[in-house]
Amino acid sequence: MTSPAVAPKTFRITSLPGDGIGADVMEQGIRVLRAVEGRMEGVEFQVEAQAAGAGEYLRSGLALPEETFDACREADAVLLGAMGLPEVRLPDGKELTPQIDLRERFDLYAGLRPTYLYHSDDSPLRGYAAGEIDFVIVRESTEGLFSARLSAATSDESEVRDVLRITRKGSERVCRAAFELARKRRGKVTLVDKANVLPSMVFMRKVFDEVADEYPDVTTEHVYVDAAALFLVKCPEIFDVLVTENMFGDILSDLASGLIGGMGMAPSADIGDDCAVFQPAHGTAPDIAGKGIANPVGMILSVAMMFDWLPQLSGQGIRDAVGRALSKPEVRTPDMGGSLTTEQMTDAILLELDR
Ligand code: ATP
Repeated sequence: MTSPAVAPKTFRITSLPGDGIGADVMEQGIRVLRAVEGRMEGVEFQVEAQAAGAGEYLRSGLALPEETFDACREADAVLLGAMGLPEVRLPDGKELTPQIDLRERFDLYAGLRPTYLYHSDDSPLRGYAAGEIDFVIVRESTEGLFSARLSAATSDESEVRDVLRITRKGSERVCRAAFELARKRRGKVTLVDKANVLPSMVFMRKVFDEVADEYPDVTTEHVYVDAAALFLVKCPEIFDVLVTENMFGDILSDLASGLIGGMGMAPSADIGDDCAVFQPAHGTAPDIAGKGIANPVGMILSVAMMFDWLPQLSGQGIRDAVGRALSKPEVRTPDMGGSLTTEQMTDAILLELDR
């Protein structure tokens, strides 16, 4: 998979609907993609769906078949629904996570998790108007505590260790991605670490400070992860770009989605040097799968992020349409206190695309 240097007329998108509500929200993401395509001159999307996930594992024994991997590599971008089911597990007890395999195999080191409040009613915090919660977590996505996931199963009944792995290369590149992003935003990067306790975090802070020297125009700060959890709830407006280790980013981005309406509202992008996968931040939500009530906004905003990443396209029109749709309090799915179905929610956003 390579990012085309010049916008081709045709973009090849591999879609991986996956499991649970993954397929429901994927359908809505593609509807929006097609609607935008119909409004653009000379741009065409070739979307090819491929199998991956827990359902595919049950069918073929592989959660990420090589054919699917190859299709992802050859595409200009990958759009992913959600993968994994709690009842489908590997012999060692872990859930299947082909989405993490993709991140690691394509070296997608920068996990971008934007958090933007579209309407004051959607936050459990009082007094925040639309746009007043607006930050991006940049989650390192190829090492950190998650690198322990591939360690061999142990038969030791008295002790198990998970190693938190931080490398200079991994830290440098994710910090650089955070600084570059901050330059396009409000110019501030917060390193979220635990450098008061863990040697790996002392090292990550050292590398962060070295990279910061290359960006004298960007304001920096260090915040311990426990304090970051507090500040995200007490005063999220202080943050612009936060960069952090894999597991801290995993946890804090769920917390962040809670500030703006829940998991259904949060998009994400996993970006490498020349490949990228776009997916809503939520999981497969087995509790609501098949009911037609999943919130498609996280997926639709992920399509917008894909447009931002593809050369010469922009996702801003999609974000504006989402903003206009959500300015009406009745335009909500049940997770946000409304009564719209997944499809009706997308209809409301599509209506706004032309306004
Ligand atoms: P994973 O571990 O794969 O990230 P998870 O176990 O953290 O998944 P999710 O599948 O994201 O959890 O679901 C958490 C809760 O949020 C569930 O109650 C689910 O119904 C709800 N939820 C998640 N996504 C959506 C959505 N798009 N629309 C409505 N509710 C959602």
